[in-house]
Amino acid sequence: MVYNFSAGPSMLPLPVLEKAQKELVDYAGSGMSVMELSHRSSLFTEIIENAERLLRELLAVPAHYKVLFLQGGASQQFSMVPLNLMKKGKAAYIHTGSWSAKAIKEGQKFGEIDVIASSEDKNFTYIPEVESLKLQKSYDYVHITTNNTIEGTAFHTFPETGDIPLVADMSSNIMSEEIDVSKFGVIYAGAQKNIAPAGLTIVIIRDDLIGGAAEDCPVMLDYKTHSGSGSMYNTPPTFAIYMAKLVFEWVRELGGIKEIESMNRKKASLLYDFLDSSVLFSSPVERESRSIMNIPFVTPSEDLNTDFIKAAKEAGLETLKGHRSVGGMRASIYNAMPVAGVEKLVEVMQAFERKYT
Ligand code: PMP
Repeated sequence: MVYNFSAGPSMLPLPVLEKAQKELVDYAGSGMSVMELSHRSSLFTEIIENAERLLRELLAVPAHYKVLFLQGGASQQFSMVPLNLMKKGKAAYIHTGSWSAKAIKEGQKFGEIDVIASSEDKNFTYIPEVESLKLQKSYDYVHITTNNTIEGTAFHTFPETGDIPLVADMSSNIMSEEIDVSKFGVIYAGAQKNIAPAGLTIVIIRDDLIGGAAEDCPVMLDYKTHSGSGSMYNTPPTFAIYMAKLVFEWVRELGGIKEIESMNRKKASLLYDFLDSSVLFSSPVERESRSIMNIPFVTPSEDLNTDFIKAAKEAGLETLKGHRSVGGMRASIYNAMPVAGVEKLVEVMQAFERKYT
C-alpha cells in the first residue's frame, strides 16, 4: 500500500478503482467491457448522461451553461479559448506561473494579450491583486489559472470582471471546493487530477460564449461542434468518461463538494501547520496564497531534499519530488488522497527532522 502524491495523473479513489475492476470485463451484464462499447450504444449513452447530470448536480452548474467532455487536455483549451472567444482581438491574462505562461503564449497567436497582473517578480510565490482599473471594456475575456499546480498557489477570491467573461483553467482544483459557476464564462480542466484518468478534458461554458469562432476554425476546436452534438461529434474518451462518472458518484456518496472541501482543508492544514512549525522544512509560498491541492516544500539543501524523497519512498510515499522547474518537494493532495496519507507524510517528515536536526 502506497500513498501517491503525484501532481497528475494522480491517485483515484480506491473504491472507484475497485468498482471499475469489478465491472472491467462485463459491464452491467452486457458481456462487454465499457472500453468495448460503441459510444452510440444505449449503455454508453446512459453513462455519459449520468456523468453530466452528476457533474451539474455537484457543481450546481446553472441551466444556461453547457458541460462538454473533450480531449486534447487543458493545453488544447489554451488554443480553443482564444479561437472561440477572441472577437474584438484583445484579452487580459493574469500570470501566475508555468501554466499561465503557456496559456498566454498560445493566446498571443490569436490577438493582443495584456498581462494585467503577474507574480513573476517573486517567482510566482503569491497571487497578485488585480486592479479593476486595468480592466478595459474592450477585452474579450480575462483568463486566470485558479490553482497553480507547480508553484502551489491558488486564488481564494476571484477578480470581479463585470461584463467581461472570466475564463478559468481549473485543472488542478476543479471539484476540490465549492465555487459559484455563474461567476465564470468558461471553466476548463484536464481530468487527470480530481476527476478521471488522463484523456478527458472537462469544459463548462456559458451558452452565449458558444458560436463565436471564425468560419475557418477547425471543426474540432469549435465549442459549437461539441455542444451541438452532446460531446459526440466524434468518438469521445469513453472509458475516462465512465471513470469520471464513478468518481462523481463517489463524491456524492461522501456528501458532495462541501464535504470534500472540508476534508481537503483538513489535509492541507495538517501539512501547513507542520511546515510552519518545522525547523527543517518550509513552504516557499506566501500564506494567503497557498493552494490546498499542491503543496511545495523544501529543506535548506538539495542533498537533504534528495535524502528526504528517498526516505519517503521507503516509507511508501510516492512521487514527492517537486516539478523539475522548481526543485524541492511537492505533495499533491487531491480529493482522492485520504487524510491518513497526509498524516503519514507528516509523521515521516517529523522523523526525518528529528534525525537531521
Ligand atoms: N493547466 C494546469 C493548471 C495544469 O496543472 C496542467 C497539467 N498539469 C495543464 C494546464 C496542462 O494540462 P494537460 O496536460 O491536460 O494539457
